[in-house]
Amino acid sequence: MLKEAQAKLYINGKWQEGSDYYDLKSPYNGNFITEVSLATPEEVEEALMSAEKGKEKIKKLTSLERSKILERASAIFEQRLEECAQILTLENAKPIKSARGEIRRTIETYKFAAEEAKRIHGETIPMDAAASGVGRFAYTRKEPLGIIAAITPFNFPFNLVAHKLGPAIASGNSVVLKPAYQTPLSALLTAEIFEEAGLPPGVLNVVTGRGSMIGDILVRDSRVNMVTFTGSLEVGLGIKAKAGLKKVTLELGSNSGLIVDSTDDLDEVVAKSVVGSFAFAGQVCISIQRIYVQQRLYDEFVSKFVERTQELVKGDPRDENTDISAMIHLNEAERIEQWLEEAKNSNAKILCGGKREGSLFEPTIITDSLSNLSINSDEAFAPIVTIQPYQEWEEAVAMINDSSYGLHAGVFTNSMEKAFDAAERIEVGGVMINDIPSFRVDHMPYGGVKNSGIGKEGIKYSVEEMMNLKMIGFNFG
Ligand code: NAD
Repeated sequence: MLKEAQAKLYINGKWQEGSDYYDLKSPYNGNFITEVSLATPEEVEEALMSAEKGKEKIKKLTSLERSKILERASAIFEQRLEECAQILTLENAKPIKSARGEIRRTIETYKFAAEEAKRIHGETIPMDAAASGVGRFAYTRKEPLGIIAAITPFNFPFNLVAHKLGPAIASGNSVVLKPAYQTPLSALLTAEIFEEAGLPPGVLNVVTGRGSMIGDILVRDSRVNMVTFTGSLEVGLGIKAKAGLKKVTLELGSNSGLIVDSTDDLDEVVAKSVVGSFAFAGQVCISIQRIYVQQRLYDEFVSKFVERTQELVKGDPRDENTDISAMIHLNEAERIEQWLEEAKNSNAKILCGGKREGSLFEPTIITDSLSNLSINSDEAFAPIVTIQPYQEWEEAVAMINDSSYGLHAGVFTNSMEKAFDAAERIEVGGVMINDIPSFRVDHMPYGGVKNSGIGKEGIKYSVEEMMNLKMIGFNFG
């Protein structure tokens, strides 16, 4: 496991000793995992120089060659699934059964990227549609942007790296990857797998360490053509302000809402809602944070929802039965405890949960007096969900839209009219009808509006973002 990669930087196809290190510790029990390189500005510079060479190397590969590398990487992930899942569980405390799920998605994401590499093309333009265009011929070609700085969060450290690296390789770009401080090992293991898959040196470079320092250098450097960022609103805003004219995509947070309007199977809706609210301790960008239930279903929904939530198994992420484990850091669990205090002081009612043991926060459901509370209006990114009844459909639409975020929403309804109304009027990047907002497959377009970000992911859509559309015109006149 990570024989070569452990704790080193990956630059120009070499595993390089760092000049400084930090201790990586388990979020679950605080145990020391390993020392990880804390990249210095000089090492970030080396990574950028390497990416400059890498960009020329990947330009020379054919679409088929890029596709084959991605296919091979996907196959290696499949062979090493269990090892990847164990690393993931170790460094971010994702329960092992969900960690395996993330690796299965990673395998698929790289497969989609391998397919997409073979479908990139321009088009011919009907120049004679304009009187002055008669006698001309034109076509477009798509060209890689060059060097992509990929900055990724801790919560899906394999699959969200795949969402940047997969399309970057498919579209012929080189990459400097800065993984989250808490989850460097998954990124280094990814580099090891791509090395084995035959990716030329310099095309992928991994620098681990502090986001503020490394991120700042990458975001400001004029050799970087695009910053693809997934993470918090606060850091995203800083990146946008510093990036100048380089292209920036931001996949940020949310406080996703779910409307339960009508259903023939309330048990199924409850079961899905529990998963959507508490998977990975709510540390999912499209985790359900706000639930609005039609009054006539409200009491039954709440009692079943509470009952099922109380059945979730809490504990060691390595245990096969565990559903919910530690949050990424004690500070995060303490933050959510404070938010809950604020809610209690405003007479909100705690229906279940609410206790913290170290960095493990119980799955918590609250109701009443919620408006203006952080727990309702900000992104919780924790195992906590608010629930409120509504009478009229208009009320539900207004409440779900009453958010500065807009990533995903879910609506359970038997009414086609309401389904289409929700699709049109809910202000988000994606509306899931008869599903939870956290439903995602990896080729669908994905990205938010409002404070949830700019730009789209989902392999085909990221490839679009990572390429320049060049127009070539011929004058035969
Ligand atoms: P974060 O913003 O703290 O960190 C994300 C990355 O940015 C890390 O690699 C970090 O080291 C780096 N970083 C930190 N400071 C930086 C700076 N000044 N300049 C450049 N980079 C810097 O986020 P996190 O805690 O790792 O992840 C949680 C957040 O990510 C949540 O808000 C969540 O909603 C969001 N998220 C969004 C999506 C999505 O697709 N929309 C997916 C997953 C997570």
